[in-house]
Amino acid sequence: MRAGSYTRCRRGLILIGTAASALLVAFVLEAATIKTPAEECLYARYTLHEEVARFLGSLDFVSRELVVRVVGATKEVRGYPSRDLYLCILTETGVSSPEKLDRSRPTVLIIASQHGNEQSAKEAALGFIRDLAAGGLRPLLRRANFLVMPQCNPHGNHFDRRSNEQDLDMNRDHVKLESEGASAVHRVFRAWMPEATLDMHEKGDDYYRVSLGCVSNINIAPVIQEFSRRVILSEVERALAAKNIAFGEYLVRDEIGLNTSTGAAIPRERLRERETMLRYSTVEINDGRNSLGIYQTLSFIMECASRRDLQTLRERTSWQSLGLKYWAEAVVKNGDDILTPVNRLRREDLDRAGVYGEDDPIHLRMEYARDPAITKVVRKKFETPPAQPRGILKVDKKAGDALTAADLEPYRFSAGQRVLEEVVENWFPLVESRLTVPRPLGYVVPGDKTEALENLLRHGISVGLFTRDFSLPVEAYAVTEIEPSDIDWLPPKLIEVEKRNISVLARKGDFYVSCAQPAASLIPLLLEPQSQFGLICYRRFDLVPKKDELFAVWRVVEHAELPIVPYKDFLS
Ligand SMILES: [Zn+2]
Repeated sequence: MRAGSYTRCRRGLILIGTAASALLVAFVLEAATIKTPAEECLYARYTLHEEVARFLGSLDFVSRELVVRVVGATKEVRGYPSRDLYLCILTETGVSSPEKLDRSRPTVLIIASQHGNEQSAKEAALGFIRDLAAGGLRPLLRRANFLVMPQCNPHGNHFDRRSNEQDLDMNRDHVKLESEGASAVHRVFRAWMPEATLDMHEKGDDYYRVSLGCVSNINIAPVIQEFSRRVILSEVERALAAKNIAFGEYLVRDEIGLNTSTGAAIPRERLRERETMLRYSTVEINDGRNSLGIYQTLSFIMECASRRDLQTLRERTSWQSLGLKYWAEAVVKNGDDILTPVNRLRREDLDRAGVYGEDDPIHLRMEYARDPAITKVVRKKFETPPAQPRGILKVDKKAGDALTAADLEPYRFSAGQRVLEEVVENWFPLVESRLTVPRPLGYVVPGDKTEALENLLRHGISVGLFTRDFSLPVEAYAVTEIEPSDIDWLPPKLIEVEKRNISVLARKGDFYVSCAQPAASLIPLLLEPQSQFGLICYRRFDLVPKKDELFAVWRVVEHAELPIVPYKDFLS
C-alpha cells in the first residue's frame, strides 16, 4: 500500500468497523485470505498479465508492507499490446524508494519468469509476495527487505513460450540489454543495489526437484561462491530433505571446448561432435545470475523440475514455492554474514578501480577445468522404461477406434520412472583464467559509438562527455590478428593485440567511462576487445576492428583532469 493511501483503504472497509486497531486486524485477515489467481482456479490455467495486475492491486490495497511500482513495459507487437512490468517492494515499513531503505538489513531481489513457458516460477513468486505481505512469511520483513519482479516476460507467459515479444531469450540478454524485461531488471538492481538475488526458472522433468546454482564467473570474489554453496545451498537442501524433496546443485551438460551459453545461434552441425562434460552453471555474464553477481552480489539461479503441462502446475509450483521460501529464510538467517562481505567487496572494488596497478587483474577469458582432487561426480537421474504408459484413457474406446490426444490424460508426474545413479567422469567443477588485463582507470569511447554508449547507460553506468578536444596519454590496442566470428553474439574467432602507449586527442563529443563506479568489474568486461563477454561479441555495437587498426576504445591509466561533464545524468 502506498504511503498516503490509508484514507482510501479506510473508506473501502468502513462497514467492517471504525476502530483503527479493528481495521488493522481486518486488513491483515483480508490480506491473508487473498488467493493467488492459480490457487483461485485450482491451477486449471496459467496466470496471465491481467490477473497478475488484479492480484497485486488487491494485495497492495490491504497490505501496508507492500508497494507496487511499474518499472518498465514490454514492447507492443502484433497480437499483443505493451504490458507493464511490476516491481513489488516488501518492507516492514512500506518503503517506496531506495533512499528510505533500511540498509542495516539485507535487501533481496527475486526475478521470475524471464522464460515465459516456465510458468511455475511466476505462480510461486505471486504466492511468496502474498505470504510476505500478509501470510506466514511476514516475520522475514523484520530482518530483510524484499524486491520481487514476479512476471518479467508477460508476452512469453501469454503464449507459453520461452522468448519474449522480440523473440529474444531474455536470460541471454543481460549484456546487450535489448529486451525491456532484462533492462528493467538492471534498472531495478542498480537503483536498489540488493546484496542477494535469485532468478527463478524451470528445467525438464528432473530427479532433483529443486536446484540452485551460484555465481561462477571468476571476476566475482571466490568467497561469494564458496559461501553460497557451503551455507545457503546446504541450508536449502536440509530444509527440502525434511519435506522429502530432492535437491541438487544446478549443473549443466555442455560440449567440451565449446561455449553454448552465449545464446548465439550455433548451427547444429557444429554441436554434438564432441565429448560432453558436466559443469556448474555458465561463466557468461549475459544471464540473470552472473550479470548481477558481477557487482559482488550473492546471486543465484533456481531451476525446478517441470513437465510444462497444466496437470502438474500445482506440483511444480509447490517445489518453486518451497525452494524460494527456504532460500529466502537461509538468506535472512545469514543476513549479517551476507551484508558485511558484500559491502566490503563492493567497497574494495571501488577503491581498487580508483588507483591503477598491475596487481588488479580483470579476467577476460576463462575455461572450465577438472579438479585433480575430485575426478568424478555422482548424479541421480530418472530412467523412463520403454514400456512407460503414454497416458490414461478418459473415454471408453475399443479396438479399431481412433485415439486422439484429447482422449488421453497424462500419466502422473514421473510415474513409472526409475531412479538411476550416474557416475560422470568428465566433471569440470573449476574455472581457470585464460587471459587477464590490469583494470584501467577508465576508457575513452568515440562519440560515434552510439549503440555502445546507450548500452552502458542501460547498465546504469555513469558516462562523462568531453566538452572540448583534449590530448591525453592512453594505452591503445593495435590489432595484429583478427578473424571475426561468422555468428552474431560470439567473440571474434581470433583477436591478437599489442598494447601501445601513445598520446591521443579525445574529441569534443567523445566519452569517458571511469571504472571507479559500482560497475567496476563489468566495465572492462564490456569494453576490452579480447573479452569473451564483451560488446565486441554483438554486431549491433560495431566494435570489431580491422587488422593493423587501433581498437576504437582506449584505456586511460594515468590520472588527469579531464574536461568532461556527466552525460545523460538525468536518466538515473
Ligand atoms: Zn529458464
